Amino acid sequence: MGSNAGAKDELPVHKVWVSPFLMDRYEVTQEQFKKFQLPDPSHFKGPNHPLEQINWTDAALYCNERSRAEGFEPCYDEETWRCDFDANGYRLPTEAEWEYACRAGTRTTYSFNNDARKLKIYAWFVGNSLGRTHPVGQKKSNSWGLYDMHGNVAEWCNDFYSQGYYEQSPQRDPRGPNHGRERVVRGGAWNSSADACRSSYRSSDPSIDDTCLANDAIGFRCVRAGLSNTAAREKTHENQPIERKPKTGFLYDDIFLEHKAPQGFPERPERLSAIVDRLKSQGLYSKLYPLKAMPIPLEWLTTIHSRGYIERAKKSCEQSEGYLDSPDVPISSKSYEAALSAAGGVLCAVDAIMDAKITNAFCAVRPPGHHALEDQAMGFCIFNNVAIAARYIQGKYSLAKVLIVDWDVHHGNGTQAAFYDDPNVLYFSVHRYPFYPGSGSVAERGVGKGLSHNINVPLPAGSTDSDYMRVFQEQLKPAALAFCPEFVLISAGFDAHMDDPLGGMNVTERGFAQMTQIVKIIAEECCDGRLVSVLEGGYSLDGLAASVEAHIRVLVE
Ligand SMILES: [Zn+2]
Repeated sequence: MGSNAGAKDELPVHKVWVSPFLMDRYEVTQEQFKKFQLPDPSHFKGPNHPLEQINWTDAALYCNERSRAEGFEPCYDEETWRCDFDANGYRLPTEAEWEYACRAGTRTTYSFNNDARKLKIYAWFVGNSLGRTHPVGQKKSNSWGLYDMHGNVAEWCNDFYSQGYYEQSPQRDPRGPNHGRERVVRGGAWNSSADACRSSYRSSDPSIDDTCLANDAIGFRCVRAGLSNTAAREKTHENQPIERKPKTGFLYDDIFLEHKAPQGFPERPERLSAIVDRLKSQGLYSKLYPLKAMPIPLEWLTTIHSRGYIERAKKSCEQSEGYLDSPDVPISSKSYEAALSAAGGVLCAVDAIMDAKITNAFCAVRPPGHHALEDQAMGFCIFNNVAIAARYIQGKYSLAKVLIVDWDVHHGNGTQAAFYDDPNVLYFSVHRYPFYPGSGSVAERGVGKGLSHNINVPLPAGSTDSDYMRVFQEQLKPAALAFCPEFVLISAGFDAHMDDPLGGMNVTERGFAQMTQIVKIIAEECCDGRLVSVLEGGYSLDGLAASVEAHIRVLVE
């Protein structure tokens, strides 16, 4: 960094080491900025023109909005404006990063060479700009493919400005002084002299000497941590291969929102939106392998449901009959398609695991499934997503033994019925009892060869995390390990959450994380961690979103 032939604040020339980072090719444009409903302050208007007249704080705010929109962790604390360099979201470059990027491997005055006469090929500056900004990316890029580093608009850096900073800056990832009143501005602008366009030239706002950088000459571009950044690696767990693929899949599809519910109905599209928003805002979404839904082929749907029922479900939705079989299964015109995609999506998650693309998955689907019977819809459920998946695992992949853990607050009567005489599916349900739908007593243990492969653990209203943990440790774990499944499915309802309006239990998100941990250990000990978790209930939007986040965090570990 720095120059022996420049201004005093460029001394001494010194070597720095910067961690890998990714940088935008262009300055942020007005069109990009307005996507986030932020008012465009620019003087020289044009969608592809660089944003200018932007103050440092609003530039940082844009970085946060963009991070949230793309599922990264925001870097800036919006009160103190301190930058969290360990977050994986967008931020302004440090001065060291900016200069490193601008130089593109050179030691010359400009990224091309020392000849200021060539500047017009690479930059809009006072010699060719005609007194205004120009659309980004029209001049030649530097050898690293970055445009407008020497001109068009000067760019905010993250660092506070201090004239003497180079005398004491650290060698590794210098990030500027800890305090200050001015921030660094780097790069020439449309009104800059050739001297102010040099790679090492430093300025700040408002102490601009050379070119009277008016506010309409200052914009910015974003950076974020590169994949092999040490900090990013520490965040996603030490000693792992850095660019490993996500191990957890996340199934979601907009079709699930098309299954509409009447006003005030608890099982509603907003449940899924709350989950997706939460995962994005917490920076978790981008760490998951995205899975899309496919309508389930009839041959698999009929492993659980009768053709007559499937036909009836289809017709009822087409004719918008209001509900299917019972008023607690309201339907709309696209409910059938959504239900086919929910069941089919879970099979896609199974496929992704069997293809070794991922280890486990969470399926954010609607409508839920565990109450659905062979030929009857009930309790918000149309097709039994988890039961069909168990048959699919057995049928397509010849894995005989499947464990289904059902921790929805309601008993999964549909799933129990599907496998009641089947010794190859261990159905384990912990639920409030007596409660809807009425079944689920300890005495229901299976029949014939299936005897003892149906385990119900009824709990009273108000049960807590520790009540559930006792069940998981003392009953689920030994039974599951003795059974030793080849695949594990979870009917993951989160309506036992303490905030749930229907469940009447006292489980917290921490409790759901602990339950997940135990099921995950079972899957790891028995079947290489193969586990698909499928959403059932959960009707407090906040409680649901927080619980799913906690659940997925354990799956991702
Ligand atoms: Zn439920």
